[in-house]
Amino acid sequence: MFKLAPLPFAKDALEPHVSVETLACHYGKHHKAYVDKVNELTKGTDLADLDLVALIRKAARDTTQKTLFNNAAQVWNHDFYWQSLAPDGGGEPGGALAERIERDFGGYDNFRKTFSETAVGQFGSGYCWLVCGADGKLKIQATANAETPIADGKDVPLLTTDVWEHAYYLDYQNRRADYLDTFLDHLVNWAFAEANLAAVTRRQAAA
Ligand code: MN
Repeated sequence: MFKLAPLPFAKDALEPHVSVETLACHYGKHHKAYVDKVNELTKGTDLADLDLVALIRKAARDTTQKTLFNNAAQVWNHDFYWQSLAPDGGGEPGGALAERIERDFGGYDNFRKTFSETAVGQFGSGYCWLVCGADGKLKIQATANAETPIADGKDVPLLTTDVWEHAYYLDYQNRRADYLDTFLDHLVNWAFAEANLAAVTRRQAAA
């Protein structure tokens, strides 16, 4: 059985930036529905024994498994999105991440502008990611719908934001740019991104 992972914070912990109502619906209904659908689609098959990332990669290579891919990727993407959020988060990162952002984006202000423009510019549903490429360079990329960098494993995600309307419509209606400002200034979990960067840097150094 694939499980709905617990939220890494209380449902009211992101108020006033993300309301209890948004989390109740986004986590309790949307995210849960993806988990339930993956269990329904894999029940009684060998796929049920795979770990989630292996399942996503297998489904991504099989054009007959698009529904399974979409739902499994959405389970993983949401787990990663919740961890990308923190009460009292946002603002400029420090440490190694600040150095890499300086090197690869020419400073935090450029990073912030590019991230926001990329997220706002994603037409329709999807995500905006900060990833570390195989060359060790940090990049910002948007993906559509359930698409996820882990499907091919080339770029390693450090951080994401969900730009599906269900992520922000109750709190910000059509104002995606305001949701992005709030994400960047109040919600980004830099400690999570930094831990992800440290892990990928270690793996790349060992390779
Ligand atoms: Mn979502």
